[in-house]
Amino acid sequence: MDKFMMMPKGFMGLPMDEGFITTAENKKNYAIAVQDWNYGPEVPTNEPGANKEFYVGLAEAMQCDEKDARRKHCSNCEYYDNTFMTQVRIERIPLATYDKGAGFRGHCEKLNFICNDMRVCQAWEERESEMD
Ligand code: SF4
Repeated sequence: MDKFMMMPKGFMGLPMDEGFITTAENKKNYAIAVQDWNYGPEVPTNEPGANKEFYVGLAEAMQCDEKDARRKHCSNCEYYDNTFMTQVRIERIPLATYDKGAGFRGHCEKLNFICNDMRVCQAWEERESEMD
């Protein structure tokens, strides 16, 4: 019976020497994402037509129409990592104000910060698996 109780290595938390961003680095990189990569919207929602100014701006920056801009989310971006073990790492970073009401947290591998699945930025790229 004990064998079935064994947890895979790391299940109960990763050793602290396992590399990941720090809270300070996350804060700095979040600010860069907002300033330089148009990360947003500030108050994301599933409400159709909401945050028009943001999505019109994103569409312009990404040279697509507003409808396509609204289909892009961190959660369907090539750089979004919300795998099980990444979530264990993310738990080291306390929830920020910007995390509230923006969906689940994931790690943005492009801009190296904790992003939220209801937001997006202009570095968004379609996942390779979806392009096959
Ligand atoms: S690059 Fe992708 S995962 Fe990172 S913030 Fe932009 S949309 Fe989100």
